[in-house]
Order: sequence, then C-alpha cells, then structure tokens
Amino acid sequence: MYDLVIQNCHILQFKGQTAVVLPNHSIAISDSKIAAIAPDISAGLSRESIQAHGMLAIPGLVNAHAHIAMSLFRGAVEDVPIDVWFNEYIWPMESNLEPEDVYWGALLALAEMIEGGVTSVADHYFATHEVAQAIEQAGTRAVLAWTIFDRAHAKQQTKSMADFVACWHGAAGGRISTWLGPHSPYVCGRDLLAQMARQAQEFGVGIHIHLAETAQQVEQSIAQYGRTPVAVAHESGLFAIPAIAAHVAHLGKGDMELLQAHGVGVACCPKTAMKLGSGVAPVAAMRQAGITVGVGTDGAASNNTYDILEATRLLALLQKHEMRDPQSMPLVEALSLATRDGARVLGLNGMIGELEIDMQADIALLQLEAAHLHPRHDVVADLVYSAKASDVDTVLVAGRVLMQGRRLLTIDKAQIMRETAARRERLTQRLPERRIQTYPSNENPGAASSK
Ligand SMILES: [Zn+2]
Repeated sequence: MYDLVIQNCHILQFKGQTAVVLPNHSIAISDSKIAAIAPDISAGLSRESIQAHGMLAIPGLVNAHAHIAMSLFRGAVEDVPIDVWFNEYIWPMESNLEPEDVYWGALLALAEMIEGGVTSVADHYFATHEVAQAIEQAGTRAVLAWTIFDRAHAKQQTKSMADFVACWHGAAGGRISTWLGPHSPYVCGRDLLAQMARQAQEFGVGIHIHLAETAQQVEQSIAQYGRTPVAVAHESGLFAIPAIAAHVAHLGKGDMELLQAHGVGVACCPKTAMKLGSGVAPVAAMRQAGITVGVGTDGAASNNTYDILEATRLLALLQKHEMRDPQSMPLVEALSLATRDGARVLGLNGMIGELEIDMQADIALLQLEAAHLHPRHDVVADLVYSAKASDVDTVLVAGRVLMQGRRLLTIDKAQIMRETAARRERLTQRLPERRIQTYPSNENPGAASSK
C-alpha cells in the first residue's frame, strides 16, 4: 500500500543531457520517497490520492543561495551602490533584528517559495535557530549556514554554533542540515576563515560563503593578500570540506581550476548581480570547466523575490546576452541548474532534484492551462521562458503535501503577512553608527579587515 499516488500528470525527467516528458503517468509515494512511476497506478493501491489531470510534475526547485529572512527588507533599498546598500541601509537595519523577526521573515519567504514550487534552499543568516524552526514548520528542506562576521562575533558564538549544529543537523526528518557561514573573505579575514574551516571539519559540516561578487572585492583581496578571494578561501582550507560559493562573478587565473578540483558548488544570483551592477558570473565557462552551478535568489533586499523560475530565466538570458551567443545556456541546462545541479550544490544529489524512483518526493505540480503556456510546442521552453510561479498548483516535500490548489497547508499566510507588516517601521529605522558590520569601500578600504 502506497502512502500517496499522484494520478494522471505529465512527468518531467532528465535523461542525460536531455529532458523527456512522460505523458499521463502516475507517481506513487511511500515513506517520503518516490516508490513507482507508471502510466496508471490505481488509487486503490494507496491511502491517499491527488488527481493531477493535465498538470506537469517537475522536481521541486532548488534555491542555492538565499537569506530568506531578508524578505522583511523587500523593496526597502533600491538604486544605490553596493557599499551604500550595506553600510547605510542593510547592515544598520539588520541591527534591529530580533530572533522572532527572523522567524516571521523566514516564514514569509517560505510561503513565497512554496507558492513558486521552491522546495529546498541553502540559506545563510543569523538567528538560525529561528530559521530552522520556520523550515521545520513549513515542511520544506534546507541547508542552513550560521553566519559569522568577524573574529569577535565568532568567539562569542562558538558555543551557540556548536549547539546549533548539535540541535539541527539532520533534524526535521532529515530535511534540515547545518553548515557554517563565514560571510565573506572581505569581512572575515584569512585567519578567521581558517578557523571556520577547522570548526566545520570538526562538526562534519560544510561551508557556505560569499566569494568574488564584485571586481572591487577582488582588487582589495589582491592588495591585501596578493591573492584572489577564491585563492584565499582555498588556502584557508574552506575547499577541503563541502563548500558553496555564492556569486563568484569575478575570477582570476587559476580560480576556475581550484573550484573544479575541489568540487566547490557555485550559486549564481543573476537578479542581484544585475541590480547591483556587480558583474555577471561566467556560468557557461564554469560549467564547461566541470564546476557545478546552481541558481540562487540571494535576499529579497537585493533580489526582491525568492522566485527560482524567474532567477533561472534571468540567468539563461544573461549568459546569452553576455556571450553574444544564443546557443549559450540551452533550455535543459538552464532547467538543470534549478533542479538537479542545485541539488548537487547543496550536497543533496541522489536525494532530490530529479523525479526518479527512490528519490525524495519533492515535487511541484504546475497547471498548464494559462494562455502564456499555449500552444505547447516544448514544455521545457515553456518552463524556462514563460511559466510563472503562480502556475504552481501543488507542492510536496518528502511526500507531504505543503500546498494544494494554491492553498498553503502548513503555514498561515495571513498571519505571517500581519506579523511582518507590523515589524516594517521598527526594522527600517537606522541609527547613526549602529550597524552589524562595515563593508570595505574605497573611502574605508580596511574597515572590516582591521577587526
Ligand atoms: Zn548573499
């Protein structure tokens, strides 16, 4: 007897470098996994069933880099350079955050992600216990990195970091894993990165870090260490353990080889890169070099949404545009970034990212009835270039239904929106000299590294 059978849907599967659609098939689920995929599985063989007539089943989408609680700052800072964005807005505003704010902010993003078919996220933030509680409640999957900003912060948090890993690694039925998240080489410095690498090794967890997001960061790293940020991360031991490097838009000689040789997963966030004018990650070249790349949304303060369909589309378009090559980032490759490659970046390959037997039943079902999806020449083209988050009808994670008929079943969206709206004014206050860190700008190049 199966736990659940999804009947009569079209199922998207990867076959090597191509994708196929199995028309009018059923998916049977047992013990959180896909147990069978066949043309017709009788509802009588299962305790529950979902009629998904005409819907498209895709692997739950993977967000490879985010700060989900930053949904609280969506649209609060626009049209400013990155140093002003950090120093005058984001880091002052983040100093207002209490753990409970982070909890509600995380839930707001999770509501948006479930509604958009995003079932897994690699998140990077503080008050991570509260983020974990939100994930546990929403029912999604996450790799949560505990953000560290500087040595004093690390020292003060050593015990809480260990407690966090002990408490949440493998929690929520295995849906949550915990990593460490030194923010970036430019605020942490080389010694702290080395310390974090040792600590992660001791805990048996990975490292999630921002790397080489802007050309200025690379210049500063070379001035300070004679090395690129990627080389600094490597020499600090970060690549000796599983690692996610976010952004990675500016690579020096030898950087790609380092990322490839150590299996570092790269998370590209095209919308943030475009909005901040910080430069485009060479995704096509990285993939050619054998680097695993996923697609991320970063936080909503820069990216405004946690919509992976949108991010994937922007990433594909941006590669074509930058390379002046319409053949760069073809359809299946783009879709793969948002699913099976994203899973690899999170260290969850073989578990999620594909609809195959024995994989976790993390599934998004999309309605294909909207005008923008007709007529249907190529469903992958529709997914990459015309589908909207609002086409997602039903979402499952580990076989549990989190949304059906666009109704969220695990979290109360109206309450979440009330709670986050009530915090808006307090959280956007900025007090002089009160900020959680200082971004090294041209005016104060060594501000953070001197800590
Ligand atoms: Zn980020």
